[in-house]
Amino acid sequence: METQELVEKYFRPGRLPHIWCPGCGNGIITGAIVKAVDKLGLNQDETVVVSGIGCSSRSSGYLDFNTVHSAHGRALPVATGVKLSEPRLKVIVCTGDGDATAIGGNHFIHAARRNIDLTVVLFNNNIYGMTGGQYSPLTPTHSKATTAPYGTIERAFDVAKLAEAAGATFVARATTFHTQLLTDVIAKAIAHEGFSLVEAITACPISFGRQNKRGGAPDMMKWQRDHGVVLAAYNKLPEDQKEDKFPIGVLYEAEAPEYTKEYDKVIAAAQGVQRTPRSEES
Ligand code: SF4
Repeated sequence: METQELVEKYFRPGRLPHIWCPGCGNGIITGAIVKAVDKLGLNQDETVVVSGIGCSSRSSGYLDFNTVHSAHGRALPVATGVKLSEPRLKVIVCTGDGDATAIGGNHFIHAARRNIDLTVVLFNNNIYGMTGGQYSPLTPTHSKATTAPYGTIERAFDVAKLAEAAGATFVARATTFHTQLLTDVIAKAIAHEGFSLVEAITACPISFGRQNKRGGAPDMMKWQRDHGVVLAAYNKLPEDQKEDKFPIGVLYEAEAPEYTKEYDKVIAAAQGVQRTPRSEES
């Protein structure tokens, strides 16, 4: 489908132009979500997008699905409630690095631990963009932020490893430079049954780039191009060359019981009946 057709089909009339700064990567990620949904042929009325608060979370307001723009850090509890009430729905969570791993950090690890069938697209711009450039748990050590004018001394999470360790059964990473890969891994994440994370590395030329002298948006895109390496090639790099690179692609995939199906078994046991999990009902 051509871009114009995608916009007309999947974006709410009258909501564009968006509020993101020139050069921001959030539109690229939102576009990749739409392309992934289209690639999978999902029913728009049976697709739900839940977001938290922050620049990334504005994405839900532009999209013509069932959407919830929830509270800061609370996208996952809201998405969990939606999925538990109607397990046949496809639920996608749009969140940022601060939203998902600081105030929402506990929700993130426990949703992963439960392996509930949600797809989290984490827009990682390395900073709190909307509120003025404070450092987040994904801000690289020594980066400057309004709350760390001399550079943060905290160590950043590797959120992909965090998700895997917490119990996620699909973990992938891509950047806004690698747009085809980004679309592909989001589609795979949505198709996967269980908790899936896509870390989408994006440029924030305003709140992160300016403070850290990263140049403009094109320079930040080139940085993504030069530092993201497809997993198979990354694994072949000598250790000293891995230091300033990061792997992209599907990083981890496993099978485990999915939470809503297990929950339905508990309901059936309590009622003393045999029943098909609701996610499999037509
Ligand atoms: Fe994008 Fe950063 Fe502007 Fe937010 S502050 S819209 S993340 S460029």
